[in-house]
Amino acid sequence: MLPEEQMALRKIRRVRRWFWISVLGYVPLFWLGKQLMRSDLIITLIMIVWVIGVVHATARVAFSACPRCNNYFHATTGTPSFWNLFARACTHCGLPLRASRVVYPSME
Ligand SMILES: [Zn+2]
Repeated sequence: MLPEEQMALRKIRRVRRWFWISVLGYVPLFWLGKQLMRSDLIITLIMIVWVIGVVHATARVAFSACPRCNNYFHATTGTPSFWNLFARACTHCGLPLRASRVVYPSME
């Protein structure tokens, strides 16, 4: 695997991690906001920032390009998608997300 591919796959893993952090951060963020600041305005501002963060993270996941085939990593069609978020490999060329899982035909 080329070093550029490894760097791009590392970036895809990082983007997916941030997606999950932003989605799962909803409960602790709002619990903290509600406990620390009893103002509805502050809670509303936190909610707006959270929604913007989730939309941004989702867009980054959806537009992640495979370093090998240059198609969208999570999309089965040509349209960006995040529905295959648990995909362990590119949905087009099968490039695995983890470099340790690459098996070259000559090594079998
Ligand atoms: Zn690919």
